[in-house]
This record gives sequence, C-alpha cells and structure tokens, in this order.
Amino acid sequence: VVVGAGFGGLAVARELRDRAVDVVVVDANNFHTFQPLLYQVATAGLDEDDIAYAVRGIFRRQRNVEFRMGRVTAVDLDARTVCLDGVPEVGGAVIDYDDLVIAAGAVTATFGVQGVEEHALGLKSIDDALNVRAHVLHQFERVAVNPTLIDEGAITFVVVGGGPTGVELAGGLVELMGVLGRDFQSLDVRRARVVLVEAGDRLLPAFAPSLGRHAVETLRRRGVEVILGAGVDRIDEHGAHLAGGFVPAHTVVWTAGITASPLASALAVETTKGGRIVVGPDLSIPAHPEVYVVGDVAAMPDGHGGIAPQLAPAAMQGGRHAARQIVRRIDGQETEPFHYVDKGTMATIGRSAAVAQLPGGIHLWGPVGWLAWLGLHLVMLIGFRNRANVLVNWGWNYFTYDRGARLLSAADIEERNA
Ligand SMILES: Cc1cc2nc3c(=O)[nH]c(=O)nc-3n(C[C@H](O)[C@H](O)[C@H](O)COP(=O)(O)OP(=O)(O)OC[C@H]3O[C@@H](n4cnc5c(N)ncnc54)[C@H](O)[C@@H]3O)c2cc1C
Repeated sequence: VVVGAGFGGLAVARELRDRAVDVVVVDANNFHTFQPLLYQVATAGLDEDDIAYAVRGIFRRQRNVEFRMGRVTAVDLDARTVCLDGVPEVGGAVIDYDDLVIAAGAVTATFGVQGVEEHALGLKSIDDALNVRAHVLHQFERVAVNPTLIDEGAITFVVVGGGPTGVELAGGLVELMGVLGRDFQSLDVRRARVVLVEAGDRLLPAFAPSLGRHAVETLRRRGVEVILGAGVDRIDEHGAHLAGGFVPAHTVVWTAGITASPLASALAVETTKGGRIVVGPDLSIPAHPEVYVVGDVAAMPDGHGGIAPQLAPAAMQGGRHAARQIVRRIDGQETEPFHYVDKGTMATIGRSAAVAQLPGGIHLWGPVGWLAWLGLHLVMLIGFRNRANVLVNWGWNYFTYDRGARLLSAADIEERNA
C-alpha cells in the first residue's frame, strides 16, 4: 500500500512496475498535483488541469496497480492495516498491507502566527491556487465598482516568505498586474502593490547569496516591494502587521513554510521538530522494516550526514529507493542505505528570469536560468497532453504578454462574500 500519489508515491508504484507485487495507491484526491507550477495557476498563467493528472490515468497501463480514493486517517502498525475515511457516499474502509510506504507530503505551517489560518491564503494545493486566483481577480472587480477600496489595500497583495514559492508568486503577481492593467482600463492599476515580506535578511536562503541578491534586484526592478528582515507578527482582515510596520492589504498569501502531513502525528512514531517522521538509513521506521516513509513527510537521512531536502527530486529518489528495498526483502536480501543525489535547485522570478544552483558550484541566472527552468519543468510534468498544453500556454503568454486563465464565476464571488 502506498499512501499518497505525489512525487514520492508515484515513484514507488512505477518502480514496482515489472515486479510480481500488487500495489494499492491511496490518495485523498483522484489526481497527482505538480506543485512547482501551482503559482502559475494562482497567477492565471496556466489552468489547473495543465498541472494535475488523474491517478487512474497514470496507471492505466500498469496492471499491478489499483487506486483507492480516500484520506488515510490511521495506520495500525501491529495489525498492518490502514484506515480510509473514503469518499463520503462509500464510507470508510480498511486495507491490509504486507509493506507500506507513506508518502503523504506536507501542509502549510503557520508557526503559530496569529490570524494566518483565518485571514491568509495558502499555496499548497490546486484548491489553494484557484482560491488565490479567484481572490485576486475579485479584488479588481470590487475596486472597479468602488475605487476608494484601493486606499484600504484592496489591490495590495502581500506574499509572506522569501523562499522559492514566495519569489515565484510575487514575480507572477506583478506580471498579472500588467495584464489586468489592460483589462481594467478605467482603473489606475499602477496603484496595485505586490509586497514580498521575508523575516530573514535575504531572499532564497537555500541558494547562494549572489542568487538571492539577483532575485531581490530583479523583483524590485519589476515593481515588487521587497521587505527583508521583518517578520509578520499578526494578520487580520485589514492586512499584515510586521515587526515595525503595517501593510494594509485585503490579500495576504502565506508561503513561509511547511510542516509534515498530519498523518505523521497520527502514527505515534518519533518525529522531528518539523513534524517529519524519523526513518532509518534504508528509509524504514525503527522496529517496522515493512513500513517506509519517503518525501516531505519523512526526515530521510541523505547518506552524507544530513537530511534530504523537501524537494520533488528527493521525494522521487526516496520513493524509488523504498520500492527497491521492498523487492530486496521479498528476495531475502538485506536492505541498503539511501543516498540522495543533489541535482540542484531552481526558482523562477518571472519572464526571462530565474536562478538555478546546480551541482559542481554552477550558478545560472537571467534568461539562461529561465530556459533551464522551463526545460526541466516541462520534462518533469506528467503526460504528453499536459506538456503540450503548458508549452502552448507559455508560448502564448510569452509572445502576447497575456494570461488566459482569468475566469471568475458567480460561485467564486459568493464564496468570497460568505
Ligand atoms: C508551491 C510549491 C512550489 C514548489 N516548487 C518546487 C520546485 O520548484 N522544485 C522542487 O523540487 N520542489 C518544489 N516544491 C516541493 C515539492 O512539490 C515537494 O517536495 C514534493 O511534492 C514532495 O513530494 P511528496 O511525494 O513527499 O508529497 P506530495 O507531492 O505533496 O504528495 C503527497 C500526496 O499525498 C496525499 N495525501 C496527503 N495526506 C494524505 C492522507 N492522509 N491520505 C491520503 N492521501 C494523502 C496528497 O493528496 C498528495 O497527493 C514545491 C512545493 C510547493 C507547495
């Protein structure tokens, strides 16, 4: 049984393709989400089905995989069962396993900051991305009716967190402002503000300082207000209260951090400070060699004395490793330790601008970094249709300076007014 059809879970099931094993993949959603491009859905650059793929479709030709839609609420490690809450009409279910791989990912961490849950938007799922998009578009429709709302911060967009997600979202939002400027010609869209707030003294702390500085300079040149060294103390319906200031804003997007899936704490096993499940060198949990934990939900020893980062390649490598260990145990062999291979990290800043930190100390930035980013993300997307759609949409957006996915329904507005 594989819990989660994210990067880690899919890698497990695919690695077991030609093995004489039955695989049951369980996910709360019936689709896989390509999270690195969520910010593009949030900023109307791509549609949601460009970056998601039905799990049943992914495994249509892999006969040894079954899919069950449902949220795993409990795991009985002694009885070797997982409990699903299931789709509401069907009710819950219990699935027995011989081997279990938990790849349930992570959720947004609020770090206890007051008002985040009530007043900030997240960016961790397709629903979150659609919510941000609808919210942003709705603010413009409100301001078009009542321009005095601008003074209250109706078209001020605060992004909290200067990691890759915050940088990408801020860069995408400022480009969207340009498009909306053409849509709302009677509005002075130059009064729209995109504010990126980071508590540390630089952006992209996981990258080399020079790449962080490049991100700051590029974002500022494009009109993003970058505030460094100012933690957010509180968020309320009026805006973000920072250490030493207040930004009036009707939109605050919280990208400041993640914590392991709540399933980790439901398991009653050892976890780290960030809630990640502690696993041994082969990625199984102590005293349960038949249970592996991979990806963002696990503190995977990287084989070099550290912990593997919460990134898609680490989850995929962990998934493949766990699958191989399951096969080794079936074949009566000892399991092997996991070794994470760092393939580098990238973050896009917007049109023709990205930073990439590759192994061997290679740094790319500007248009070269951006082309590398585009190529990698196209290759990693699942399914030819998604790749083709994304390529066409990117081409269209690039050459027309437009963004097609700017739909806002009456239901969206009702939900926002509720
Ligand atoms: C906005 C954003 C941008 C990112 N950009 C990058 C990037 O550019 N490069 C990069 O390498 N990484 C990036 N990441 C990180 C990357 O997406 C994660 O590291 C990766 O998705 C982790 O894979 P995973 O399999 O552990 O979890 P996920 O891919 O999150 O998959 C977990 C799956 O488990 C399911 N699930 C969770 N709980 C349960 C449950 N109880 N029962 C059933 N199903 C459950 C979820 O529905 C989900 O499908 C980004 C993440 C975000 C949010």
